[in-house]
Amino acid sequence: MIDFFKNTVFAVDSRKIVPGSVFVALKGERTDGHLYVKEALEKGAKMAVVEKEVDAPPEKLYMVRSTLDFLAQIAREKLYANKPLVVGITGSNGKTTTKELLFKLLEPFGAFRNAGNLNTEVGLPLSILNDYSGERIVILEMAMNKVGDIAKLCHIARPRISVLLNVGTAHRGIAGGDEAILNGKLEIVENMEPNGTAVVLSDERLVSRLKSKNFVTFGHEKGDYHLISYSYSSFETVARYVLKSRTVELKLPRIWNVGQLTNLAAVFAVVDLLGFEIDIERLKDFTPVSGRFNCIECKGVYVFDDCYNASLESFRVAVDTLKKVGKRTFAVVGSIKEQGIFSKQTHLQLGGILDQLDGVIVYTKDPEVEVMSSSKEILRSSSVEEIVETLCTVLTKGDALLFKASRAVEMEKVLQRFLEVYGC
Ligand code: ADP
Repeated sequence: MIDFFKNTVFAVDSRKIVPGSVFVALKGERTDGHLYVKEALEKGAKMAVVEKEVDAPPEKLYMVRSTLDFLAQIAREKLYANKPLVVGITGSNGKTTTKELLFKLLEPFGAFRNAGNLNTEVGLPLSILNDYSGERIVILEMAMNKVGDIAKLCHIARPRISVLLNVGTAHRGIAGGDEAILNGKLEIVENMEPNGTAVVLSDERLVSRLKSKNFVTFGHEKGDYHLISYSYSSFETVARYVLKSRTVELKLPRIWNVGQLTNLAAVFAVVDLLGFEIDIERLKDFTPVSGRFNCIECKGVYVFDDCYNASLESFRVAVDTLKKVGKRTFAVVGSIKEQGIFSKQTHLQLGGILDQLDGVIVYTKDPEVEVMSSSKEILRSSSVEEIVETLCTVLTKGDALLFKASRAVEMEKVLQRFLEVYGC
């Protein structure tokens, strides 16, 4: 790395400048970082990296052809100076939780992981530049909006092990359809190290595309590493796995859905492939990531906080679990965003999934959900108070209740109010 930039904090948002940091001016969809160079320097940035002329002292500017490429290049240089084992994780659902589970198991051997939302062409290099301090295992969640995104991330950090969790319908409006999502996600396998190994969901649609790559499979009831069965008792999940030739059973605190449990088989595969012992004891105090199907027990009601995001696939596994644990099942649901031309179809399908529950409340803060109809609808409202009041009237001990929508809907505000009023 260019010596000047060693041990420096980088920021792309002028509001996050700390004295002595370097501001990288990026051109985004909404605004252009070059407009904030002056502000960043006034706040104490020692330098601004720019790709065009700006009105600022020239000695404080570092001109490059592309600021985005600059970020990628210095992150790559920093990473490879340490020659780490890189594990890349992508998929439509479960990346963050899978990454955290893997980190939990690999932490004793010296592991680093990028923070949840630092998983894009901007976030991932920033995370490496600002947070990585030479750990020998680097676990990176890689997000995709469109074809080409994952290849770019792999160019920054080429995985020795590439994990492809699943290919679903999340963000399909942006990606341009289901085939585009599949192609985009497969880039994690196509761009791993030449002698790398892929850990891929045991699904013919994916496996048939792996050509001559080294790979192992994981899954539910099938795959080299797989979940055999699972059950819930009070506030615990018991899951049994086949790990190649041996079988293990583990008890996990709280309620885990089948998607999360299946992804755990991928985690075991990675630890095994890296040659480390799988210490399942470490999972006993695993703290679930906030907003990702976290179960809170409240006055005998199973409340599921799944407010962080939503897709048809994650709704399916959530509903499936609710039905297994609750005497009666309810959900407060909002829009699934970023579905573009597929939005109507997605919400009509969602109605079908929710028909399996006993009661559905539609939070109409965002318009997309308006076309959704479920035969189990008991209320449709944009009022948090009205929703909470209805819930307090219908719920009894033993019920299961899901709060779920895409992030932008801010369903967590409804959940928080419910928890306050219900007295949790
Ligand atoms: P991501 O980082 O990919 O968004 P998260 O770990 O944040 O993933 O989980 C997001 C949602 O995906 C949660 O609702 C979780 O229950 C769900 N989920 C996890 N794994 C699966 C899976 N294999 N199939 C369907 N849904 C899943």
